[in-house]
Amino acid sequence: SAFVDFKDVVKRYRMGEVEITALDGVSFQVEQGEFAIVVGPSGAGKSTILNILGGMDSCDEGRVVVDGVEVSAFTQRQLTTYRRNDIGFVFQFYNLVQNLTALENVELASEICPHPLEAAAVLRGVGLTKRMNNFPAQLSGGEQQRVAIARALAKNPKLLLCDEPTGALDDRTGKTILKLLQDTCRKSGMTVVVITHNHALTAMGDRVIEVRDGRVAAMKRNARPASVE
Ligand code: ADP
Ligand code: ADP
Repeated sequence: SAFVDFKDVVKRYRMGEVEITALDGVSFQVEQGEFAIVVGPSGAGKSTILNILGGMDSCDEGRVVVDGVEVSAFTQRQLTTYRRNDIGFVFQFYNLVQNLTALENVELASEICPHPLEAAAVLRGVGLTKRMNNFPAQLSGGEQQRVAIARALAKNPKLLLCDEPTGALDDRTGKTILKLLQDTCRKSGMTVVVITHNHALTAMGDRVIEVRDGRVAAMKRNARPASVE
């Protein structure tokens, strides 16, 4: 069966008298080692999908299975362990600790999980060899996102979830960052799910899941090139 199996998921948010159906029966699968992109306009339900996949939110109906385990049946305690040990997160605005260096930011993440990778090695892997001792404010947006990616990878997670990782970057830097995520997926065999509102980026995904109004509007698989330059 698939590494990620999202089946008939319904999520509602209550705001006083008003109820919003954020996800209205969403089903999709992602195979192990795939680079998946969830695309759709603002409000479509992308973040809700990612939050449920990452154990930060629960669904009202349906079933979510990751690596053979039913995440949607987890207790709060199991969810905490799952978030800490199994999932790497990358956010739009990097979420780095401003008074720690790049290296310290990455070390901080690896300290809390059971099978961390060496922080300096991971930073070298994302091309930040010369910037490890800089603080976030001394780094460009693209460099800060590389630190955030290194921080997520240092946990050696089963699944890497990226919420609009290119959203705060110019087009060119954004493409480079997405390419880095794709390379990471290819080299490590890690399963990666990226959400974006930018259709121009979807060509890079092995699998593209298009979401609109809380539903899957289209699904597509791109052939992997035999070799990447
Ligand atoms: P996207 O990430 O595609 O922009 P979201 O998943 O953030 O979409 O939101 C889907 C819908 O759910 C939107 O209508 C949004 O306003 C609503 N929503 C998301 N989170 C909450 C929340 N915590 N409380 C109430 N409504 C929410
Ligand atoms: P971008 O083109 O991505 O916006 P910037 O113009 O912010 O990048 O930065 C260009 C280069 O200058 C980057 O390598 C960045 O690390 C470096 N840099 C930016 N601000 C500082 C700073 N306050 N101290 C040291 N280096 C900096």
